Order: sequence, then structure tokens, then C-alpha cells
Amino acid sequence: MQDKETIGFIGIGIMGRSMAGHLQRAGYPLHVHNRTRAKAEELIDRGAVWHGSVASLARVCDIVITMVGYPSDVESVYLGAEGILAHARPGTHAIDMTTSSPALAKRIWEAAKKKEIVALDAPVTGGDVGARDAKLSIMVGGERAAFGAMKAVFGVMGTTVVYQGPTGAGQHAKLANQIAIAGCIMGVCESLAYAECVGLDRRTLLASIENGAAGSRQLSVLGPRMIDGDFAPGFYVKHFVKDLGIAIDVAKEMGIELPALALAKSLYERLAAGGLQDAGTQALYRLYVDRIAAP
Ligand code: NAP
Repeated sequence: MQDKETIGFIGIGIMGRSMAGHLQRAGYPLHVHNRTRAKAEELIDRGAVWHGSVASLARVCDIVITMVGYPSDVESVYLGAEGILAHARPGTHAIDMTTSSPALAKRIWEAAKKKEIVALDAPVTGGDVGARDAKLSIMVGGERAAFGAMKAVFGVMGTTVVYQGPTGAGQHAKLANQIAIAGCIMGVCESLAYAECVGLDRRTLLASIENGAAGSRQLSVLGPRMIDGDFAPGFYVKHFVKDLGIAIDVAKEMGIELPALALAKSLYERLAAGGLQDAGTQALYRLYVDRIAAP
């Protein structure tokens, strides 16, 4: 039997630590790098090889997966002098699973091609719980053959693995996902704030409405956290502001008017300016109940 490919995983945060852990348990030799080493200790204790730099990891891996924070992180990790493209071997598959910009995905793909490195954009949805349970939905952009070659690897981290089209299509699919969430979470907050004001028991309300036409993952997973006042991050406010900003920029370039997206972005920016950038996205509820003022 052919040995499994060596995988390098960069970005051991809320999502990356679970995703890399699944790959390790599935038997892939795992190499890791993260800005803060402490977050990778658990994986290192279980046998992952630590690298102090992106370059050192990229030199020895067949597949490099990135799950960092912002497009600026993606840019430096791929295109910097000490980045993946400068140091990976020809034939390496480089997969960015960060939510980032479609235009940057294209720049990386073009630069990778010149080095005979195969780049894919493969952002995910499903949250911290989906990452923990290996039930992510993975949206892949790039060459179809490369998608086929990496499908088994994606299958270790997710249950819905779909080819969306050429380079950048994975990121566009993820932005469409974020736009849908933006509208939905505002509705969930307003519904629960209304219920609270008129004296309904919000858990009893959820029992009635979460399996009806108003049902959604935002309502069922984040609704109870809002009611409990649990604003710990599964998905950071600061990352949602980033995603909505990328989506607005693309919409502007394309001349598409998306008023609900613009409203959600302004509300989340207000939340972040109020000091809640490191809270989870369910903290939007605080705008309604604590009436955090516009800056
Ligand atoms: P996170 O906890 O902040 O993880 C990102 C990790 O990347 C951090 O550990 C960070 O290091 C590391 N990193 C950033 N820049 C780096 C660099 N230049 N070199 C090495 N390591 C670097 O965020 P997350 O929640 O896992 O999210 C990661 C990405 O997935 C984001 O783009 C987010 O929008 C997206 N996403 C998140 C969710 C979710 O529910 N959490 C769901 C879908 C998609 P430090 O430890 O030093 O900060």
C-alpha cells in the first residue's frame, strides 16, 4: 500500500487544531506551524513535527494546508520571501482553507503555477463544532484534477466536499454563505429581542419555532448561546467583519446592491468598535439587549 502523503498544516487556531487533529488521526504524517507555538503543543505531543517557520515546513511536505486569519496572513504565508511558494517543491499541493479574497486566490494560483505548485482555495463552513466533529462543508475552487487528487484529504475533515469551479470559486461560494448568514443572524437577534421584550420565555419560543419555517443553524446553535449570555467565540466577530468586508468589496466591483449585507456589516463594525471583536458572532444580540451605541 502506498504511504500517505506528508501534510503540513499552518494555522493551529480554533478551526485548524481540530482539522489538523483529524488528519493526524487518519494516519497522515503531520507537520505543523503556527504563529503561537503553544496552540500546537497538543498535536506535537501526539507526534506532529513542529516547524519554526513556514519555509521549513513547506520544504518537506507533499501537501500544505493553511487555515490562518486574514487575507494579509494568507498573502505573507504564500507570497512572502519565506513563504510557501518560495520554498515548496514542484508538485506540492497548496490548499488555502482560510476565508479570504477570491482575487488573492487567483494571484496565488498564478504564482504557484509558475513554480509547478498546485494551488486550491477551499474555505469551509460548519463552525467550530463542524471542525471538531469532522463535519465541515468544504467549497473548493481550482483545477478539477487537483480537487480529485485531494478529495480523500478533504473527506477526513468534512462530510460535504463540493467542487465549485475554477480558482476563486471556493472563496466566492464561502462569501455567498456569509451573506446568507448575515441576513439570518440579524433576524434571529431581532426575534429573540422581541420575545424578551414582550415577556415570552425564549427557550419555550425556540421549541415552537426552530423546526418550523424560521428554523436555521443560527437559531438552533447560536440562539441558545444568546439566551444564556454565552458570547465565547466559536466564530470571531473580527473574522465576520473581515468576511463581510470582502463580500462588500466584490459586490461593489460587480455593481451588485446587497442592502442586508451592508446593514449587517455596519452592525458588526459597531459591535467590534464597542470592544467585542474577540467575542463570537452571537454577540450581535448584545446590540439589541445592551443597546451598544453607534461609535
Ligand atoms: P484563529 O483561531 O484566529 O486561527 C488562526 C490561526 O492562524 C491562529 O492560531 C494564528 O496564530 C494563525 N496565524 C495567523 N497568521 C499566521 C501566520 N502568518 N503564520 C502562522 N500562523 C498564523 O481563527 P479560526 O476561528 O480558526 O479561523 C481561521 C479562518 O477560518 C478565518 O479566516 C475564519 O474566518 C475562517 N473560519 C472560521 C470559522 C469558525 O467558526 N471559527 C468557520 C469557518 C471559517 P495565533 O495563534 O498566533 O493567533
